[in-house]
Amino acid sequence: MSARILVVDDVMVNVRLLEAKLASEYFHVLTASSGETALDVARAERPDLVLLDVMMPGMDGFEVCRRLKTNPATAEIPVVMVTALSDVADRVKGLEAGADDFLTKPVDDVALFARVRSLVRLKRMMEEWRLREEVSGRFENVLGNGHDPDEDMPPARVVLWEHSDTAAQRITEMLRPVVEATVRVKSPEELVRSLIRPADLVILGLGGPFDVLRLVGQLRSAEASRFTPVLLVAAEEETTRLAKGLDLGANDYIVRPIDRNELLARVQTQMRRKRLQDRLKENYQKSLALALTDGLTGLYNRRYFTAHLEGLMTRIADGAQGAAVLMLDVDFFKKINDTYGHAAGDTVLREVAHRLARNVRSFDLVARYGGEEFVVVMPETTLPIAAMVAERLRNAVADKPITLPERGSEISVTISIGIAIVEERGDSATASLSRADAALYEAKANGRNCAIHWQPTMRPLAKVGL
Ligand code: GH3
Ligand code: MG
Ligand code: MG
Repeated sequence: MSARILVVDDVMVNVRLLEAKLASEYFHVLTASSGETALDVARAERPDLVLLDVMMPGMDGFEVCRRLKTNPATAEIPVVMVTALSDVADRVKGLEAGADDFLTKPVDDVALFARVRSLVRLKRMMEEWRLREEVSGRFENVLGNGHDPDEDMPPARVVLWEHSDTAAQRITEMLRPVVEATVRVKSPEELVRSLIRPADLVILGLGGPFDVLRLVGQLRSAEASRFTPVLLVAAEEETTRLAKGLDLGANDYIVRPIDRNELLARVQTQMRRKRLQDRLKENYQKSLALALTDGLTGLYNRRYFTAHLEGLMTRIADGAQGAAVLMLDVDFFKKINDTYGHAAGDTVLREVAHRLARNVRSFDLVARYGGEEFVVVMPETTLPIAAMVAERLRNAVADKPITLPERGSEISVTISIGIAIVEERGDSATASLSRADAALYEAKANGRNCAIHWQPTMRPLAKVGL
């Protein structure tokens, strides 16, 4: 993994030392020898990670970290603080300043590379989601972005694997202020079962007869827990294994004896990250859904309808019962636009869509085919039923005038409907749709505001296509 890393230290020897280590693993290294320079370089170069010395004359590491984290341009760059002391109070101070991790001087190679790789990996993942969010940025208004992810936080659920009863109890006790429920699990099977309901964090304590690191790999490869943060707990002498755990995909670790404030700070950082990630993912999924719906009416769009109908065709070819396809078109719609304006036309389309959707069964599909044309697909439906539904839909539109709030008036609107039944194997989506369209053409020719079903004497219209 190649990444750009900014090394900040006021002592040149330290900079060179870290630079040499990182360069030997093919990382690209940037350097700064003061807090001020570090901020400039971070802003200009956007490195993938900052290794930040705590004690520097002038602006110290805590302050640099705080500034990096409060500037939106640099907030997402992971920061690892490099301290001479392994003082717990210092670590908590660092976490409060927004640091993602710590390394103690002299920097141990294994710990260094494990941390760097794990944080760079995380940053890449966040960038990936951000990119997707940007791509779908045109949906931003609809998605209601920009809301504070900490708002309406659902209660946190933590799953805990800890061999020692006393330690498990202590951890549960410490987490109480920030966690709704801590679920303790004692076997891999229990762990899997506990994750059927999503968890905000999994804490794995090393120690005991079971090889806990194996669980990290399992959590990462299982669909339900792929993105769930994992925090390792280990004794000081297990650092090498910790490093391996981070390489396997754990997100963070804490060393025993556990300091309450450090635990809370690390747990909260992980949960915040998880929620941001969830939000990005959810937005992405919403935007996917939006790509398949019609912006004006909220109905499925033609693209979705096509996929749906083709899926249905396959099922019918496999022996499922036949379906009905209705093609519906608003009568003299152009005149509505011309008389009342385009906005009024839009209102009519929305209201027609609404009435159609309200008058079909939940497993029937209503889609906007284009312009003022709609389609309805009804699985397992025979002609008599289809004709009845078509009549109901026609009435749902014709029976009650549509109110135009922008004009303060009401207008009567009607639709014409063409019905086609799909029953034979070997029928195709395109063919059934052109039959429905040919029937619609007949309905128009018949004076409109009526539903007509396709018959072999009707000429198929060439213009219809999916
Ligand atoms: P017919 O009874 O034969 O169907 O006549 P019509 O006027 O309904 O049909 P025509 O196809 O001539 O006109 C459809 C019009 O629908 C033309 C187009 O400008 C308008 N239209 C298409 N999409 C929209 C839309 O999203 N909003 C509005 N307001 N008008 C639209
Ligand atoms: Mg029309
Ligand atoms: Mg039309």
